[in-house]
Amino acid sequence: MPALLASDWDDILGYVRTHHPDLVRGWFTELEPMDLFGGILRIRARNSSQVRYLQDHCRLAFGEGAQAKLGKLVTAAFEANAENGEFTKPTTALGFDGATSLQLNDDYVFENFVVGPGNRLAHAAAVAVAESPGTTYNPLFIHGDVGLGKTHLLQAICHACNVQGTCANALYISCETFVNHFIEAVERGALKQFRYRYREVDMLVIDDIQFLGERERSQEEFFHTFNTLYQSQKQIILSADCSPAEIPSLENRLVSRFNSGLVASIDMPCLETRMAIIRKKARLRCIEVSEDVVKLVAERIESNIRDLEGALIKLDAFSQTRGRQIDLELAQEALGGDGQQRAITVQQIVDVVTRYFSVRLADLQSKKRTKSITLPRQVCMYLARELTSHSLEEVGGFFGGRDHTTVLHAHRTIKQAREVDAQLNSQLTDLASALRNQRGGQSSRGASG
Ligand code: ADP
Ligand code: MG
Repeated sequence: MPALLASDWDDILGYVRTHHPDLVRGWFTELEPMDLFGGILRIRARNSSQVRYLQDHCRLAFGEGAQAKLGKLVTAAFEANAENGEFTKPTTALGFDGATSLQLNDDYVFENFVVGPGNRLAHAAAVAVAESPGTTYNPLFIHGDVGLGKTHLLQAICHACNVQGTCANALYISCETFVNHFIEAVERGALKQFRYRYREVDMLVIDDIQFLGERERSQEEFFHTFNTLYQSQKQIILSADCSPAEIPSLENRLVSRFNSGLVASIDMPCLETRMAIIRKKARLRCIEVSEDVVKLVAERIESNIRDLEGALIKLDAFSQTRGRQIDLELAQEALGGDGQQRAITVQQIVDVVTRYFSVRLADLQSKKRTKSITLPRQVCMYLARELTSHSLEEVGGFFGGRDHTTVLHAHRTIKQAREVDAQLNSQLTDLASALRNQRGGQSSRGASG
């Protein structure tokens, strides 16, 4: 939200003087605009009797002035200057009712969320938290790769709280917004207002908290926000693309707080869940698809639900522009390839990788940690995660009984490394295309080999 410029404030005050001269008092020159968030212009007066006067007589006048100046709907709210360092509650009910919450997506409700083995715990925890915020799992930390339903679950909790009336004052924001508000508040010397805003909620829901990594001052501020809310048993819900300990440069004290409630991961959905999600999304979008098409799409797109949805939209568009029904033939045309490709197996990955790096499977499954072994081992795990639908546990188990966090770590390491290491990147491209060619079908994508 843009800060209010001093000249804007002068104009707003000027408007009130011109249009409502009878309301104006000498002390109006002392009024201070505090911030403009979510359509609410907060104005500070010297004491509570001034606030009462403003509240009773001038709310509309200031609202009109702000609207005339800024060209959008604005409500004025007044509060008294904080004495002895306490935050003063805004004097209007509109002062802080979650107005800064991001808009919730109406489709992101529990009813539209398909539960499967990969997200069962996260879903159950989300439902429990919505039923009785602040008591069951606090904080609730949900993590998983991009496009696997974290935002959907977070927003479903907010929707459910609204419907069930379990939490009147929930604030849902992205971590980026939190950080930006904080920076803005520091710049404008409005930290008290910032703190009031974030610490007076009943439930704080922050999406993509990994954004806090490497932002030292925001972490410090968030630490105190967290403690204040936690101590008064307010629910805190966070999401991230990795577990607390894996967030780069996150202070230990925050890691331990995030770990102190329930940490639930969302893993890649299995084929059956992906099929159920496609059916659900198709129904929501009134797109008719047959079972064989559902299966084709689910087999084709393994890594990300957002991409599944994208494929469905593509099919719909394809069918409309060609005036044809969505059948298997059309789906194959739209998505490319012959649709008969068999899934890549871990064994194939191992064959290709061990040959490429001249290592033995036994080495990959051993405890050896020399670089010549760890790299191909991590590459195998990375490819297994990218190209097969095996769970993290299965992949970890295959490579010498390692646990799922090892696989997650390997995947992350390689994913980040290939972004900066051109040689590794081209090795991986070669390996992936060798695998695709090996599985027999004419590869539809990345046909570089
Ligand atoms: P994330 O926040 O983890 O990146 P999102 O919550 O934005 O992912 O989900 C991406 C898309 O996938 C959304 O449209 C969401 O509705 C859908 N989605 C993810 N998981 C499920 C699920 N289990 N059931 C139904 N839709 C899902
Ligand atoms: Mg998200």
